[in-house]
Amino acid sequence: MPWTDETAAAVALPHRNAWASLTRGFTGRCPHCGQGKLFGAFLKVTDRCEACDEDFSHQRADDFPAYLVILIVGHILVPIALFVETEFSPSYPVQLAVWLPLALVLSLALLQPVKGAIVGLQWALRMHGFGVLPDADAMPGQEH
Ligand SMILES: [Zn+2]
Repeated sequence: MPWTDETAAAVALPHRNAWASLTRGFTGRCPHCGQGKLFGAFLKVTDRCEACDEDFSHQRADDFPAYLVILIVGHILVPIALFVETEFSPSYPVQLAVWLPLALVLSLALLQPVKGAIVGLQWALRMHGFGVLPDADAMPGQEH
């Protein structure tokens, strides 16, 4: 990778706590300040934080939240379904009536938090244009 002025600027930027940003995003809060809302609708990330004016237009979660949700829900439900099948062998209609709604509800419940966590992580790692400039609150004497 060529060493450019942008690389040098990125290296000199202050550290962002990835875990804190990830958990703030998971709870639907701004990964920067933890106060403003991250989502304007179910899966629509707001343009800017209402509290600290952080620009969220750099987020590129794309299909990754859906991929992760499938991975997580599969790892939760498949072992349980296998256990129930080997121990109790319920009829197929009963299994369909349990596992399909459960998979749907779990997926819908996890989609927004997982997307928020990914956007928070992208912010903390300064991906896709997040934080090319130093954080305003990290620079003494400079306002937002
Ligand atoms: Zn904020």
